[in-house]
Amino acid sequence: MKQGKCIVFSAPSGSGKTTLSKHLLDQDDFKLEFSISATTRPPRGNEQHGKDYYFLTQEEFKAKIAEAAFAEYEEVYPGMFYGTLKSELERIWERGKNVLFDIDVVGGLNIKKQYPNNTMAVFVKTPNIADLKARLQLRATDTEEKIAMRIAKAETELERAVDFDHIVLNDKLETAKQDVQELVFNFLNQ
Ligand code: ADP
Ligand code: 5GP
Repeated sequence: MKQGKCIVFSAPSGSGKTTLSKHLLDQDDFKLEFSISATTRPPRGNEQHGKDYYFLTQEEFKAKIAEAAFAEYEEVYPGMFYGTLKSELERIWERGKNVLFDIDVVGGLNIKKQYPNNTMAVFVKTPNIADLKARLQLRATDTEEKIAMRIAKAETELERAVDFDHIVLNDKLETAKQDVQELVFNFLNQ
């Protein structure tokens, strides 16, 4: 099967990757489809199997690891596994589409390692950690304790930014939207 392309967006939580990914998914000519990850964590709120995640038991996840079914996987939190199934990428490519990933920094770089010839990895940054914290507080989806955890993780994630193909600064949202749109346009048309 002919492989399509992979576009990876990784960033510390709160940097704007969801906002920028949605903007890209709205551009019909990019033919992007979101990669749905598999996870062993339980569904939150209204999350649905096959839409937000493929929710697997630990046994099911381990069986898939043994079958080499994952393009990448990781124990993101103790006991909580997350991964990208090769079958998910094939599903999207078969539809003639390109895959958009919203995964963490380590996972993003592993996709790049697996598919070096057809992946563009983009790191999204805020101007500084104080802005990141302010955005997480304004988003109001996390407790102060969770925000502190995310900020601590952000500091180590920022050190990996240099390993990405591009770094996009998400200061003014409109400018960042234009920047990512241009990067994706150039990558898909090269
Ligand atoms: P992530 O997916 O990386 O966690 P989000 O896309 O959820 O980040 O963005 C975090 C919060 O910051 C959201 O409330 C979003 O509306 C806001 N946001 C995104 N980009 C900007 C920006 N350039 N300036 C100010 N706020 C922003
Ligand atoms: P959440 O539980 O909040 O949905 O996601 C937790 C973390 O897991 C986030 O940092 C998210 O980026 C990461 N994640 C989600 N899917 C995958 C995946 O397929 N692979 C990897 N490596 N990380 C993932």
